[in-house]
Amino acid sequence: MVERTRKEQPGTDIVIAGAGYVGLATAVALKSSAPHLGVTVIDAAPAGVWRNDTRASAIAAAASRMLDRLGCWDAILPEAQPINEMTVTDSRTSDPVRPVFLTFNGEIEPGEPFAHMVENRVLNASLRAKAEELGIEFIEGAPVNGIEQGEAHLTVRYADGKSLRTRLLIAADGVKSRLRDMAGIKTVNWEYGQSGIVCTVSHERPHHGRAEEHFLPAGPFAILPLKGNRSSLVWTERTDDAERLINDDDFVFEHELELRFGLKLGELHVEGPRKSFPLGLTLARDFVKPRFALAGDAAHGIHPIAGQGLNLGFKDAAALAETIVDADRLGLDIGSIAVLERYQTWRRFDTVQMGVTTDVLNRLFSNDNVPVRALRDFGLGLVERMPRLKGFFIRQAAGLSTTAPKLLQGQPI
Ligand SMILES: Cc1cc2nc3c(=O)[nH]c(=O)nc-3n(C[C@H](O)[C@H](O)[C@H](O)COP(=O)(O)OP(=O)(O)OC[C@H]3O[C@@H](n4cnc5c(N)ncnc54)[C@H](O)[C@@H]3O)c2cc1C
Repeated sequence: MVERTRKEQPGTDIVIAGAGYVGLATAVALKSSAPHLGVTVIDAAPAGVWRNDTRASAIAAAASRMLDRLGCWDAILPEAQPINEMTVTDSRTSDPVRPVFLTFNGEIEPGEPFAHMVENRVLNASLRAKAEELGIEFIEGAPVNGIEQGEAHLTVRYADGKSLRTRLLIAADGVKSRLRDMAGIKTVNWEYGQSGIVCTVSHERPHHGRAEEHFLPAGPFAILPLKGNRSSLVWTERTDDAERLINDDDFVFEHELELRFGLKLGELHVEGPRKSFPLGLTLARDFVKPRFALAGDAAHGIHPIAGQGLNLGFKDAAALAETIVDADRLGLDIGSIAVLERYQTWRRFDTVQMGVTTDVLNRLFSNDNVPVRALRDFGLGLVERMPRLKGFFIRQAAGLSTTAPKLLQGQPI
């Protein structure tokens, strides 16, 4: 429903800035539960840019339940690789053997793995197709560059002096969110001096759906299974070493890779580009202001040690959509601070908890100090011998909890 309160300025109920995974999931969740609401997505990048995203993400079971409920999972499933098993090792790069300290069996319900590996381009294509099917409007290649607060609306300014009036602006514009700054929301933030090198490798032998996390002195080295004899790597190094590695020639890079990966899957080849992402912790002090809400990395950027960044963002999408749709059904103002505070209360504790957990894990495991290693290996061994505790961790990683938003429990809003 497009309102035209002033003839010269077009308007819509909800503007989402950012057509990444979280912006798209929020748009689809809103529009499929409340089709009468007008939803416009504005993105700084030109249309089609996501087709070049060569990364892959671990999608937790709760997020796949949501994608299924939103009608996106059927298109993703044929290309999603279930994680059947996970092993954790702790050693030095030069150690000839990597003793396994912890193993997880991948199912949370019979036939339902705790996570799938999905290539980002597949995820984006399915969310985008659903958004278009639902009639969500897109404005692309148009960074939002100004926000003005009105009494019962916001004016969102974007490229070439154009503007749109809206009752609610959702900022899903990534970890360096300009909209967060424009709204005057401060962050707690620090850098780790580490970068995550991301690339895809093909290998001779099958991985059988096994994910591996090797804790090495520079940080975690994760091997995550993709469809076919391929794996996605998230390889943490000190930032200067990461820069050197991604600029080294293929021979040097593949040699360094083999030292960490080993040869149990046969000969390795790097497929496509290698990229590195600087790693840090960013937590927004507030998630909402009147007529304004943050979602996804714009609200929280965390270390990828547990592969949970996007899953946290999907939880935001589900909680925010449920908050807005419930308020709309009750005839409340969807942009009022009273409504938006429900979303903030729902999401902030979980986010801070995950941010702190990943921070502590990263400090504990990116460390070669002998007593610290002994202590953490004792801890891993203890968890390995406690099946109930392991079950608890698996359910946490799968994102399943009774307080989860309805979509993440596979229910309609
Ligand atoms: C190395 C690494 C590995 C990771 N692995 C995993 C994993 O396995 N599992 C997992 O759950 N998470 C993982 N993550 C985290 C995950 O990638 C992010 O949490 C996720 O991409 C955030 O999505 P988003 O939609 O919030 O933001 P983004 O993906 O950053 O999208 C932001 C969008 O906003 C747009 N934008 C920016 N500025 C503006 C503006 N001014 N106006 C309009 N639009 C704008 C951008 O063009 C972009 O489209 C990983 C992260 C890293 C760095």
